[in-house]
Amino acid sequence: MHSRLFFLLPLLPLACSSSSSTSTPTDTGITSLDSTPSDTLSSDTLSADTHVAIDAPAGARTIDNCTTDVSADAPAFFRTYFRCVTIITTADAVVITTDDLPPHLSYYYGASSPNYATFDVRGGDYHPNPNKLKSKKFSIKVPKSPVAKGLTITSAMVDGVVGTSKDEFAMGQVGVALDAVAVFNPLAAPGDDIATERFTFDEYDAHPAPDGVYHYHTSSKGPLEVMVAVGASKGATPGSASVELFGVMCDGTIVFGCTELDGSAPTGTLDAQGGHVGDIKDAAGAVHFAARYHTHVCPTSATGRKFTPEIQYYSSCGL
Ligand SMILES: [Zn+2]
Ligand SMILES: [Zn+2]
Repeated sequence: MHSRLFFLLPLLPLACSSSSSTSTPTDTGITSLDSTPSDTLSSDTLSADTHVAIDAPAGARTIDNCTTDVSADAPAFFRTYFRCVTIITTADAVVITTDDLPPHLSYYYGASSPNYATFDVRGGDYHPNPNKLKSKKFSIKVPKSPVAKGLTITSAMVDGVVGTSKDEFAMGQVGVALDAVAVFNPLAAPGDDIATERFTFDEYDAHPAPDGVYHYHTSSKGPLEVMVAVGASKGATPGSASVELFGVMCDGTIVFGCTELDGSAPTGTLDAQGGHVGDIKDAAGAVHFAARYHTHVCPTSATGRKFTPEIQYYSSCGL
C-alpha cells in the first residue's frame, strides 16, 4: 500500500548521491537529425489502430492537444519521442518538466473530468485504489554524460523490497515516460508487494499515489501511443508493438519494452532487472546514445522483467 510506502520515505538512504565511477558513456551528438523514424517507415505500415486520442471525448487531454515544448538544442532523442512535457538543457543535463497529467483516459481523473473512464475490473481481479490523480509539476535532470557506478546488478539486489540496497532508486517520481507520466521504481514497503498492488492499475497500467501523483511501475500502452503518434512504432500494445520505448530515469537509464529502439530483440545477457549496456540506435541507424545502460520491461519474454528498474546504475540522479 502506498500509505506505508510513503511513510517510509524520510527513512530512505540517499540513493542518488554515490560518487564512485568506472566509465563515462557520452552522448554521441546525433548528426542525422532529420532521419527520424517517421521518415523511414512507410506510412502505410503505420495504422492508427490503437491511438486512443482519436476517439477521445471533447475537451479531453490528448497527445495531440497537450503542450510540448522541447528546446531546439535538446538531443534528438528527447525532441523525437517525448510529448506533453517541457525540455530544456543545461551544461550537463537535459531537464524534463511535466505536470504529470496523462494524455489518455483514466478512472483516476474522476467522473467530472473529460478524461474519465470507468474502471475495468478485468474479470474481478482489479479494483481502484481510493486516490485521485492530481497535477503534480516536477522535473528530472537527466545527466548528459552519466557516470556508471560499476555495479553488476544481481537478483539479490533486485529483491523488490525498499531499503535493502544503497543503490535503489529513490521512492516517488524518479523517471518520466514519453507521455509525461511519472515513472516510479517497483519497490514496496516490507510486507507489501508490487505484484499485489498492480491490481489497482487502470487500463494504462498506472495508478495515483495518496498525494495524487499518477505513475507507472511497469509497461503501458501510454508511452507506446506516443511512439505511434510520432511514427516510430506500429501498434501500442506492450509485448507486440514494433518498437517499445517507455521513458527515461533520472540517472540516464533508458527504459524499453520488449525491443530495442530499432525494433530488434535485445541480444546478450540481461541483468536481474532486464538491463544491459548497448548503443541506443534508431531504425534509421542514428546512434542516440553510445554504450548506454538501459532496461527492458517485457513480461511476455521468458527472460523478461515485469517492472521498472529498481537499482540505479548511474551515479547521479537529478531530482
Ligand atoms: Zn504505485
Ligand atoms: Zn537492450
